[in-house]
Amino acid sequence: MKFGTYFAYWEQEWNADYKFYIDKVARLGFDILELGAGALVGMDDAELSAIKHKSRDAGISLTGCIGLPANYDVSSADEGVRRGGVEYLKKILAALEKVEASVLGGIIYAYWPCDYSKPVDKAGVRARSIGSLLEIADFAADRGVLLVLETVNRFEHFLINTSEEAVQLAHDVGHPNVKVMLDCFHMNIEEDFLGDAIRTAGKWLGHFHIGECNRKVPGRGHMPWDEMGKALRDIGYDGAVVMEPFVRMGGTVGSDIKVWRDLSGNADDKKLDEDIAEALKFVREKFA
Ligand code: MN
Repeated sequence: MKFGTYFAYWEQEWNADYKFYIDKVARLGFDILELGAGALVGMDDAELSAIKHKSRDAGISLTGCIGLPANYDVSSADEGVRRGGVEYLKKILAALEKVEASVLGGIIYAYWPCDYSKPVDKAGVRARSIGSLLEIADFAADRGVLLVLETVNRFEHFLINTSEEAVQLAHDVGHPNVKVMLDCFHMNIEEDFLGDAIRTAGKWLGHFHIGECNRKVPGRGHMPWDEMGKALRDIGYDGAVVMEPFVRMGGTVGSDIKVWRDLSGNADDKKLDEDIAEALKFVREKFA
């Protein structure tokens, strides 16, 4: 297993200086930095090349994550929107190739967060989502990027809330470059037992997000780390384990993630570094 973190732990906006965070996570002992994949589309080739070289020099692997915005919803009944979403994902994948990122995960099968003021057509969304994923699966494989479908809680989307639903969707897509991504923050809401959910994913598990149930760094809450570690060993998981902590209020990140109180203990950046380094040591031991 390789261990990483999402850059947004330290950030209030989704756009950030990824080169700065590559150095930071290398210094803190991580193997992986997860990037906000959407921001890469706005970068020119020189910047993407600089990120690639920085990650090579630092020995940091890169992965990407996105919740597609509604105007790029690849499950939309509006064919123009769906088509635009597919093209947007292709632009993201081309940029990920340029930085040599190996994974694209998140809500890449619909849009995020779901607008529940509109009616839910789960069957229609599911069918169009499968079609869109099949349109990009080869394109992603050709660029060395694995697609992983993130399973999220019911308040954020409805298509895949459990490991079982995610596996069924990946199975129905039926492409070797499309796998499942679990996130214990969401699993804590939807699954009976987290270990069982990991075993249900089994060989389909391609990426794993971790954090406490209030999105603090691992080791600060009641998440069943021993149970998850045992299940990961049971399935022989050797992919990425990426922390996704959100502990600071403010900015677009704070409002998108709904951080309405300080969860950091009013930490400065130095304290955030210490907290996540300690969490890394904790999960390396629990998942070893
Ligand atoms: Mn996640």
